[in-house]
Amino acid sequence: MEQYLDYMVEQIKALTRIPSPSGYTAKIVGYMESLLKAMQVDYRITNKGSLIVTIDGKTNHRERTISAHLDTLGAMVKELKSDGRIRFDKIGGYLMNAVEGENCVIETLDERQYTGTILSIKPSVHIHSDAGELKRDLDNMEVVLDEKVEKKEDVEKLGINVGDFIFFDTRTQVTESGFIKSRHLDDKASAGILLGIIRHLKERGITPEYRTNFYFSVFEEVGHGAAASIPPNTFEFLAIDMGAPGKGQNSSEFAVCICAKDSSGPYNYEFRKRLVAICRAKNIDYRIDLYPSYGSDASAALKAGHDFKAALIGTGVFASHSYERTHRDGILHTARLIAEYIVSKS
Ligand SMILES: [Zn+2]
Repeated sequence: MEQYLDYMVEQIKALTRIPSPSGYTAKIVGYMESLLKAMQVDYRITNKGSLIVTIDGKTNHRERTISAHLDTLGAMVKELKSDGRIRFDKIGGYLMNAVEGENCVIETLDERQYTGTILSIKPSVHIHSDAGELKRDLDNMEVVLDEKVEKKEDVEKLGINVGDFIFFDTRTQVTESGFIKSRHLDDKASAGILLGIIRHLKERGITPEYRTNFYFSVFEEVGHGAAASIPPNTFEFLAIDMGAPGKGQNSSEFAVCICAKDSSGPYNYEFRKRLVAICRAKNIDYRIDLYPSYGSDASAALKAGHDFKAALIGTGVFASHSYERTHRDGILHTARLIAEYIVSKS
């Protein structure tokens, strides 16, 4: 997979440039379609807007589904305030300090875009002596538009309305030392990895052991991403999503993280053992970890009533749901495990 590492990193950069909060994913799905068409890979779009690529295997009556989600965190205009500022609501789960000071773009229904900054209502230490103590919650945060607006009517004249989507600046950077820093590496790092895997299978004419579906979901951050449209013969579901390194965690930005248990309970034990056995046999750096405050597309699908063995793996993403970071090594080891899994027997 080393040969595809640069391609995967390029695609991760490209994906982070396309805003895609849950509910606003048609454009990023369109971008994925253009790549898949160029690769001459078959896919379909579900009613909900997910994209599913299917590659036939040596066996086609049993199928595997591998997911990554294209949707991200974001915000939505909640109220146009009398002073021309904008109150917003969250899309997905994050802390206000993770977005305070961030540049953003508001897109109107007729697709005009305006820039602004997300700030607290007491943004200057020269004016507000209690700025530091101010609780960072939705009531105390707002978008300050980069427009000459002083009252609600000024904002309305721009065409901005309640319900407009707000995108965060992702500030994507790739360092000489191999780190990738950006918002929304959850889960665009995994989507970029799966693009590399699809290209690897296609260009090398590799046939998966079982028919394999790559499921790019679009409502994961709000909890129901892969709850529907899973190919019915799926007997194993492998979610590719971020590992969570940090204090007290076993995960790493430099390895593939294998989740043993998250808030939905333990993942399939036999499936996990098999993934670990592949890592050991192929010298893939892996870490096993628990994520008590985490759910995945696999857990969403299980809760929706699907019957399959589920596992969750991914590169470690530091400072998740904030300004995130991962490393080329974690991407490579995750890609290697997926590539080996696809050609392995269950
Ligand atoms: Zn995720």
